[in-house]
Amino acid sequence: MSYRIETTCVQGGYTPGNGEPRQIPIVQSTTFKYATSEAMGKLFDLEDNGYFYTRLQNPTNDHVAAKIAQLEGGTAAMLTSSGQAASFFSMFNLCSCGDHIVASSTIYGGTFNLISVTMARMGISATFVDPDCTEEELNAAFRPNTKCVFGETIANPALTVLDIEKFARAAHAHGVPLIVDNTFPTPVGCRPIEWGADIVTHSTTKYMDGHGVAVGGAIVDSGKFDWMAHAEKFPGLTTPDESYHGITYAEKFGMAGAFITKCTAQLMRDFGAIQSPQNAFYLNLGLESLHVRMARHCENGQAVAEFLAGHPKVAKVTYPGLPGDKYHALAQKYLPNGSCGVVSFDLKGGRQAASVFMKNLKLAAIETHVADARTCCLNPATSTHRQMTDEQLAAAGIPAGLVRMSCGLENKNDLIEDIAQALDAVE
Ligand SMILES: *Cc1c(COP(=O)(O)O)cnc(C)c1O
Repeated sequence: MSYRIETTCVQGGYTPGNGEPRQIPIVQSTTFKYATSEAMGKLFDLEDNGYFYTRLQNPTNDHVAAKIAQLEGGTAAMLTSSGQAASFFSMFNLCSCGDHIVASSTIYGGTFNLISVTMARMGISATFVDPDCTEEELNAAFRPNTKCVFGETIANPALTVLDIEKFARAAHAHGVPLIVDNTFPTPVGCRPIEWGADIVTHSTTKYMDGHGVAVGGAIVDSGKFDWMAHAEKFPGLTTPDESYHGITYAEKFGMAGAFITKCTAQLMRDFGAIQSPQNAFYLNLGLESLHVRMARHCENGQAVAEFLAGHPKVAKVTYPGLPGDKYHALAQKYLPNGSCGVVSFDLKGGRQAASVFMKNLKLAAIETHVADARTCCLNPATSTHRQMTDEQLAAAGIPAGLVRMSCGLENKNDLIEDIAQALDAVE
């Protein structure tokens, strides 16, 4: 039985039996007991479902992953220790040394670095494409050794909106899956699988947790990509895994289960980037109110963006919910119920104005974080990018007066009044 998304946020992934705990139990145990070696052997051979060591699987994590799979409309999911681990696993589950990735150029900086520096050291190359490129330009980025396409529904912090259908068409025309990082909208705002994405990733650290409590990630498989139809491209899924008793994942687990089973059995086994059951429990508390919170984050983001757009000291506001925004049309298509709580804006007075503005904020805290219940903001020029000159910043598309504000769950009028008084202090 499948329910509407609000109900899945609250009740998905875990249905207790008679007399069992109402809330998902935290299984705080590294290991699990068996009566016979034969019983345990079946688990090692992936012949039976069950638990033997928490680095591979834990019941708490599995319940929470199952909820996220239901939310995204996928067939299988897994949790990871962080969003970075989810991004890495989602690509490395498909790519080996000598392979190639096509990625949107506006993806999160951590993912950009992962692909362009760290995965490059593993012999995996990449071509970055402007998310607004034509289909022709996009198709030209593919090579015979391309194994996946990576994009972000709403990019952090660029706030570009991905044309998921365009990217899915190009990926599928070249026989590879589209991976979409859906961290910012969450499945409450957009379900990329419905638009053609094959794999969805999350930094659950952001809105899914939503309270600034636990770093985590998730990977969801749509179950729609036919690995066997492109068997020569994905030998890791379509030929026997000698490190796992000669299992061929795509044969044994089918389209619905092959990707996540391989990712768990190989990558989690070898890299060990597991989310702790305690953190999975916190994550689930966040998920229980995700639908309620996202509506408020979007409402506050929209109100703050509209206020800033009409303010004389503000040069430019970037927010997909504003009618004048470059991505408004795409946002209306993919994010009809609102985009997110993150707004970025450029102060006319540059670095100095940003510094005075930030200093005078009372409610909004200065933090390297987004998607928290509490409003926070950051001026890249005086913090994360402080080593760069104004000219270098402008070239990177980050004006010195740029402020990224993540609107929390407070009353929107309090947020606007706080911003207004801090702008008053700017010369
Ligand atoms: C934060 C973030 C990540 C990285 O996630 P961590 O949980 O910090 O490792 C990846 N993608 C997006 C869009 C993010 O915002």
